[in-house]
Amino acid sequence: MIPPALLDRVLFTEEQVNTRVAEVAAEISARYRGKDLKLIGVLKGSIYFLTHLSRHLTIPVKIDILAISSFSARWQSPGLVRIEKDLDEPIEGQDVLIIEDIVDTGLTLRYLLQTLAGRGPNSIAICTLLDRTSKRLVQLPVEYRCFEIDDSFVVGCGLDHRQLYRNLPYIAALRRPE
Ligand code: 5GP
Repeated sequence: MIPPALLDRVLFTEEQVNTRVAEVAAEISARYRGKDLKLIGVLKGSIYFLTHLSRHLTIPVKIDILAISSFSARWQSPGLVRIEKDLDEPIEGQDVLIIEDIVDTGLTLRYLLQTLAGRGPNSIAICTLLDRTSKRLVQLPVEYRCFEIDDSFVVGCGLDHRQLYRNLPYIAALRRPE
């Protein structure tokens, strides 16, 4: 589905993604059993991972979604993030797990963490499908990660290139995204 000229290589097959997501879901189910867990997804990329992960959870969970615009790299204004659509419900007193597709510089997530922490949750933690620690600009506590990746630009499992390829069930590195 990715044009051969654009595809570099498949980093994680559908089977590898499924296995790893199930493993992480088992860890989360064990850690939050008996708690009031809310998964918070960030539009658009993390929605695929949130859905996949939540299907493997064996505890009751609620979900809520927010949308942000991030100007991290493109506009050279590091960390400038704006909430375009806020959560539907308060998170006060709840155990919150932020679900991310990829943590790169960490600037987007730092803003989210600070904003949500100010709303009085009982606990707040991060779960990401992909982690690129080599590019991190701010230290963040990432409690759950499925895969660590290198510098290549990746698509699939929610991640896009010009809004395409989010629906691929595997994770692929692209050659040279414009
Ligand atoms: P940061 O952690 O730098 O603030 O930004 C994370 C966001 O950058 C992700 O949510 C994602 O939208 C985007 N991003 C970072 N690396 C990649 C990548 O390799 N592929 C895609 N498709 N998006 C990326």
